[in-house]
Amino acid sequence: MATKFKRILKCGKKGSATLEFITILPLVIFMCLFVWQLIVAGMAVFETQWVLKEGVRIAASSGSTKEAENKARSAFHASDYYSLDSYKVEIKDEKAVAKAKVRIKVLFMSSSPFTYSSSAKTPIYDDENTQMAGSMMLAGPLITSGGRFGPPVANMNITSHFGGRNDPLGRGYRNHTGVDFGASEGTPIYAAGDGVVTRAGAARGYGNLIVISHGNGLETWYAHMYSHQIGVHVGQRVKRGDHIAGVGSAGNSTGPHLHFEVRVNGQPVNPVPYLNGGY
Ligand SMILES: [Zn+2]
Repeated sequence: MATKFKRILKCGKKGSATLEFITILPLVIFMCLFVWQLIVAGMAVFETQWVLKEGVRIAASSGSTKEAENKARSAFHASDYYSLDSYKVEIKDEKAVAKAKVRIKVLFMSSSPFTYSSSAKTPIYDDENTQMAGSMMLAGPLITSGGRFGPPVANMNITSHFGGRNDPLGRGYRNHTGVDFGASEGTPIYAAGDGVVTRAGAARGYGNLIVISHGNGLETWYAHMYSHQIGVHVGQRVKRGDHIAGVGSAGNSTGPHLHFEVRVNGQPVNPVPYLNGGY
């Protein structure tokens, strides 16, 4: 376009550009409108993606699709050129899914807007999972020996067992996917076994989460530490007993504790039989 403009200016000086200018001008206007249309479409797509991410984020952390829909809808910045046509958030198979359809006006063709549809998905990581299993158990100090794993905290004082329980946050009867070890903030958390860190960071209800893979589908999960307490990174090899983090109270937590899980092929199992009282 720049060269065309140069030509127009050059020709203008010669005083013979009128004809050329008239033929090029509509083309220039058309190109400007085309670029403008692209910018409008880009803004609409950007806004849509943002509102989708916002929806799944809220749904995954609150568990409420209604709340997620309402909040995300009101966060959508509609303009004269595009608007949110439909928006829906669902929770399916432990995943929050958001779908949006945006109507974008085509310049000078208000009768036939085009629509952009997209969706976003995020897994729900929630300390208090949805399945109901087992019964409420009495809490107390854990004394075990000969297990597969070493103690994730030095003093394994269980404040909440694996299995069904009344949700401490008042959300009814829920399955607890791990055991909670009560400990003061900053108490060292140790790797329960040799392995590779596959996750280390924010995770919805868990606050922050460290996952160590021990091979053969066996994993240990450590939750609720604050992000600054995480001392490992994804891909790092750790040894049993390595200091990997400190006890915190991030996420769905009522006080400082370590939420510890053992997962076999992704399924949480009771960690107690896996635990060894000493190194
Ligand atoms: Zn827990």
